[in-house]
Formats: sequence, C-alpha cells, structure tokens
Amino acid sequence: MFVSDGLSVNEQGHLTIGGVDTVELAKKYGTPLYVMDEMSIRSALREYKKSIDDNYENGGMVAFASKACAFKAMYEIVKEEGCGADVVSGGELYTAIQAGFPAERLYFHGNFKTEAELALALDYGVGRIVVDNWEEMETLSAMAAARNVTADIYLRITPGVDAHTHSFVMTGQNDSKFGFTLETGDALAAAKRAAAMPGLALKGMHCHIGSQIFDEAPFAHTAELMIGFMAKVREEMGITLTELNMGGGFGSRYVESDAVMPYGEYMWRIAGALKAVAASLSFPVPYIVIEPGRSIVGNAGITLYTVGSVKHIPGIRTFVIVDGGMTDNPRYALYQSPYTAVIANRANAPADQTVTIAGRCCESGDLIQEHTKLQSCGRGDILAVMTTGAYNYSMSSNYNRIPRPAIVMVKDGVDRVVVKAETYADVMRNDV
Ligand SMILES: *Cc1c(COP(=O)(O)O)cnc(C)c1O
Repeated sequence: MFVSDGLSVNEQGHLTIGGVDTVELAKKYGTPLYVMDEMSIRSALREYKKSIDDNYENGGMVAFASKACAFKAMYEIVKEEGCGADVVSGGELYTAIQAGFPAERLYFHGNFKTEAELALALDYGVGRIVVDNWEEMETLSAMAAARNVTADIYLRITPGVDAHTHSFVMTGQNDSKFGFTLETGDALAAAKRAAAMPGLALKGMHCHIGSQIFDEAPFAHTAELMIGFMAKVREEMGITLTELNMGGGFGSRYVESDAVMPYGEYMWRIAGALKAVAASLSFPVPYIVIEPGRSIVGNAGITLYTVGSVKHIPGIRTFVIVDGGMTDNPRYALYQSPYTAVIANRANAPADQTVTIAGRCCESGDLIQEHTKLQSCGRGDILAVMTTGAYNYSMSSNYNRIPRPAIVMVKDGVDRVVVKAETYADVMRNDV
C-alpha cells in the first residue's frame, strides 16, 4: 500500500515516516507540512554513487539536480555524501554557496543565464558551466576573457531522442528549447566555435532527455549517440573530450503500478550500451556525470494536510478538501501527475472510497488527485500524500497569499525543522 520504503504504520494505526508518527508531527508543527526522510535521501545518493563506481573505470560524479528540492540543509546532505549538485539559477547557486557547498562540484545549467548569474558563477568558481546557446557562448567567453580566467564548460546537446514521458517534461527531442541540436550539425559547429574562443575550455558534453522515465532504452540510446558525437569531435577537431554528463530523469514511484528498477541494474544496463559503443569506436570511456533529482528526493517526502470538509455530490463525485493544494503541490494542476494518499490517523483502515482530493485555492483546477482510493474521513483527519519530495516545495507559490509550509526532516526517530513555515509577515515582506 505504501509506495515509499521509509513509510510504515505503528500500533495506533498511524502512518510513520523514518520511524516518526506523522499524526504527532501534524500536531506538533501544524499542517500543511512537508516531511522528508533523511536516510532515504542519503541511501539514494549512495546507491547512485556505488553504481558509478561499479560501472565506470574512469570514475564519475553524482550531481543532485537541486531544482527538484533546494534548500540549505539539502545541499548540506548532498555535500556530506560527497556528491555534486546541478544548479539552474542564481538563486540555487547562491543557496548552495551559502550552505558551504564546494563550488568546484557545481554544474551550472539553464537556457537563459543572465550576465549577473554568469558573473556569480565565475566569481564563485563553479566547476562546470553548461553552455546552452550561441549567445551565451559569446557572452561567457567575453566575460571570462575580461577577467583573465578560463571557464570550464560543457555544451548542452539535444540528441534527438524521444523519451516516453509527459511532453512538458520531455527535453531530448529536436523540437526543444534546450541546447544545440545534434542532427542539424549545430552541435558540432558549437564545439568547433567553443574550442576556438578565448576564456573557454571545452571539457565535455551534456545532455538531459527528460524526466520520470522508467525505461532504460532511451538513456542507452542517448549514451550511444553522445559517445558517437564525441568520437566525431575527435575525428573532426583532433580533441578527445574526457567528460560526459548524462543528465537526470530516472522515475520515482508515485503509484503502485510504477515499476521502478533498482538504480544499480538500471545504471549497469546504460553503462553496458555506452561501453560497447566506446569500444567499437576505440573511444576512451569518459568520466561520467549523472544528475538525478526526482529519484533522490521524490520518495523521501510526504505532505501532511488536515481534512476540512467532504462533499458528496451524488452521481458525480466525492471531494475531500484539504488545507493546502496547488500552492504547495502544483503537479496535478500542471501535468495530471499521479499520487497515492492515505488517511494518516487510520492508515490500516481499508481504502474503500473513491474520491477527488482538492485544495483550498480559488481555482477549480486546484486538485491533488482525482478518482483515487482513500479511507473514509472527515474534518480534522490527517491526510498524507506520498512521493512529494521532488518538485513540490521547489514549485510552491504564495497564490491566494497562502504562506509556504515548513519542511521537517526526520532521521532515526528524531524530527527537526529544516525550512521554517512562512508567516503572513513573510508573505508581505516585499510590499512597499
Ligand atoms: C531537471 C534536470 C535534471 C533532473 O531531472 P530529474 O528528472 O529530476 O532526475 C537533471 N539535469 C538537468 C539539466 C535538468 O534540467
């Protein structure tokens, strides 16, 4: 019944996460509340690290895609695990640096980096800047040359791979706003130009084909295309690039039917395809960077809500209305994302109702899930939505002037606040 490993039920029939009673957490901190299981995050990072060590003789790096869930304590955990991080904005970069994250383990992405953001990246000494477009290449080259520094870069390549996922989270196909296209020759032209420009050192290539992908075939195919491209760069330019960043995108388990392969096996399969192509082209296996986001934090998180009302509309549907919604989790409104929910204070009761879970915002589309199974419930019950660790807090808003919830981290039966709940004063703080 639970889609995540850290979840269980105690003698009182209450849902627990990381050994902590969620009903007690709701009482202690109020709702809505994000709760994250620290061991689940750490073990995912460790599994990925091991998969790199096991499969790639020239090593590599697990860089947490921080857009999935960025706050100071998160960067501290990633740093402690010896991993890197990918950042996509000045705000993420700033947070990482404030958290004491080593700049050389940061990968700076994004299809529009402002001059101010590029300056920040050069000042901090970010490890790799992933150049997305021609204008950015020119701008960065001029800025680095003016400072008398060399920026170590990757090029973002659009490999032309159609990953089987929602079109809004698909990024590898040719019709994409990201990167230089492989098939049109743009990618090779960009490599030639980058290698000749002052202030830039081309270190390798990057690609990211999409998100919430379960099938390893599109990744394996992408690995083959990218090694092929790097061999082409060697042939045409006489430069053997030694780093390949394969991006993120591996899926998380939201509902029971999501069949997630263990990371070890999934990485082994991709590595097999990559190494076979490398061998056939006599191309040395590069240092491999991977950027998992969702699969590190998704299943580590849950959101607790209080039920406010239950509306039965005969012949139509039953709404269970909670004290949060699209402000803390916009994913159903954006992509009709599937979720599993449970009444946390009666977690062992049969889920024998079919309901729609709705939020409190002034939008009919403010739904968490439709036509989902749930225990019977009423005002005051605690509802837990699972797999909310990724792209919930990081996508939250203050719509309707609703303050953002706190994030509580649990570990070994102990809970601590890692992000405080916003107050009404916080919501007003920039009003002049
Ligand atoms: C979003 C993104 C990721 C992470 O994707 P997940 O699906 O969360 O693993 C990694 N790299 C880049 C460049 C991204 O844009």
